[in-house]
Amino acid sequence: MSKHHHHHHAGCIRPEAEQLLAQAIERCRSLGFRRTKALEDVLSILIRACQPLTLADISEHQDLGSGADKATVYRLLMKLEQRSLIRRLGLHDRAAYYTMILPGEHSDYLICNDCGRIEKLDIHCPVQSLEKQISKSSGYKRLYHELEFFGQCPECQASA
Ligand SMILES: [Zn+2]
Ligand SMILES: [Zn+2]
Repeated sequence: MSKHHHHHHAGCIRPEAEQLLAQAIERCRSLGFRRTKALEDVLSILIRACQPLTLADISEHQDLGSGADKATVYRLLMKLEQRSLIRRLGLHDRAAYYTMILPGEHSDYLICNDCGRIEKLDIHCPVQSLEKQISKSSGYKRLYHELEFFGQCPECQASA
């Protein structure tokens, strides 16, 4: 069975995905990553995703044309996280999700303590203006934040 499908993905499309991917690859190179097909695939999958993805989402993704196994994908994710190219969200021991850190773009999240589900918060983020202020006063660049709110989702409340 071929893994090389070429359908369109439902949901959000980042029009600048190609450019973001090129930038991410360049940044990886400057940080000493070896440029492999698996690295490009993982970055591309994360950049094109509309929401944070789990290890399984990535390692079983149809766009993983390199056919990298789960262990390889996991090692890449660890490395990308260590170098602050991606961020790990969610509950560490149960369901970890990975998301790209993109300058000027961020989301805040709602996470269920019981089932580990994660949702993007659809609110106007009050921290963004604070971020600009901090950047200005501290001189830091590439500033980002992502907030995680933890609680119990409605489904888990209903089944409690
Ligand atoms: Zn839940
Ligand atoms: Zn925010």
